[in-house]
Amino acid sequence: MHYSFFSLLRNAMTGHRGWTPAWRDAEPKSTYDAVIVGGGGHGLATAYYLAKEHGITNIAVLEKGWVGGGNIGRNTTIIRSNYLLAGNIPFYELSMKLWESLEQSLNYNAMVSQRGVMNLYHSDGQRDAYARRGNAMRLHGVDADLLDREQVHAMLPFLNFDDARFPIQGGLLQKRGGTARHDAVAWGYARGASDRGVDIVQNCEVTGFIIENGRVAGVETTRGQIRAKKVAISVAGNSSRVAALAGLRLPIESHVLQAFVSEGIKPLIPNVVTFGAGHFYISQSDKGGLVFGGDLDGYKSYAQRGNLPTVKDVCEGGVALMPLIGRLRILRNWGGIMDMTADGSPIIDKTPVDGLYLNAGWCYGGFKAVPAAGLCFAHLIARDEPHSAAAAFRLDRFARGAVIDEKGQGPQPNLH
Ligand SMILES: Cc1cc2nc3c(=O)[nH]c(=O)nc-3n(C[C@H](O)[C@H](O)[C@H](O)COP(=O)(O)OP(=O)(O)OC[C@H]3O[C@@H](n4cnc5c(N)ncnc54)[C@H](O)[C@@H]3O)c2cc1C
Repeated sequence: MHYSFFSLLRNAMTGHRGWTPAWRDAEPKSTYDAVIVGGGGHGLATAYYLAKEHGITNIAVLEKGWVGGGNIGRNTTIIRSNYLLAGNIPFYELSMKLWESLEQSLNYNAMVSQRGVMNLYHSDGQRDAYARRGNAMRLHGVDADLLDREQVHAMLPFLNFDDARFPIQGGLLQKRGGTARHDAVAWGYARGASDRGVDIVQNCEVTGFIIENGRVAGVETTRGQIRAKKVAISVAGNSSRVAALAGLRLPIESHVLQAFVSEGIKPLIPNVVTFGAGHFYISQSDKGGLVFGGDLDGYKSYAQRGNLPTVKDVCEGGVALMPLIGRLRILRNWGGIMDMTADGSPIIDKTPVDGLYLNAGWCYGGFKAVPAAGLCFAHLIARDEPHSAAAAFRLDRFARGAVIDEKGQGPQPNLH
């Protein structure tokens, strides 16, 4: 079904009885050309681009829970391409360009909102680092504006400029950054893939891999054996657990990250704001709730929930930055599992097992990457060679010392 003004009008006139489910809830077949493990944003986007760009449609996406139940439905919805390193900028800019035309491509309202992302700086050293980042972005054709205190004040007068422990000196603004509705992104890709013949199988957990003569031949699942010529792992926070089923040990630790939503208020925050003196970031949803988050909980876990000390830490950061939110009530908070690599950058690569591919290590930045990761992972699976925009995201880069340490934090996953 094509969504348009006319389909809306027709259904409005007929009691909204004509809408059909956005995608088929498929039963698994016994054999496919390719199987994608994980029905999150990355898995669904990969299936969509395999079908759209490479004509490979005999595919199943196997999801152990339900579409949207993982991080794709748990993130704080920020999209941006304000990276520093050459390995990262072209990839995230490709993703940003795909975001800009996503709704037309998918014929689905993903509520992409380019409201701008503002990273605040609070010291001369931080300003210089942001100037360097902004220059690197511009050299790659990405928009970046370095603002001084007065310019930031004109945009965000409610921030604490006057009696703050960490006075705001300015900010690095990417105007094309912003937010997108996370569930809608999953639903839009699921619909686009399903329309092209992809089977999306929910409640189907992969419990093992069939490996014959060093080559993958399918998967064992809670709904039986499924054979496939190619198998792609795209399970985010569960990457190390699932890869271990194929005998692989990944350079990844899983950590919890929490997100928070306040009660709804009138429009206050025009863009996404990040606090440069602590780990806190905030935006306002179209419904009026303030959506915010901060640091990882700080211990390894596969639980999709966090603990109170982090709630306190995040709220302290928020109140330090904008004291007025101290009077708001938090409506909801939740956790997601982050697949943290040792350098903070992702992996899109083949594995040592023939026919087994890996998309992992997105840390807490994989939502913005969904379109490009799907496109590049599909390219790798279809052609057996990396897409040029994701050429640096190799699995063996840690052994080679070719790390992409965007933050300069060193080899400590929980710090990235
Ligand atoms: C609180 C929070 C805030 C975040 N904020 C941002 C942000 O603002 N911007 C940004 O860019 N990124 C953000 N992220 C990160 C981003 O959400 C993730 O990097 C990204 O969603 C991960 O990819 P995915 O969508 O494919 O993951 P998921 O949606 O988690 O998909 C993986 C799927 O694999 C399934 N699975 C696992 N094991 C198996 C199995 N054995 N068999 C079958 N299926 C299996 C899971 O059920 C899951 O549905 C945030 C994450 C969290 C938790």
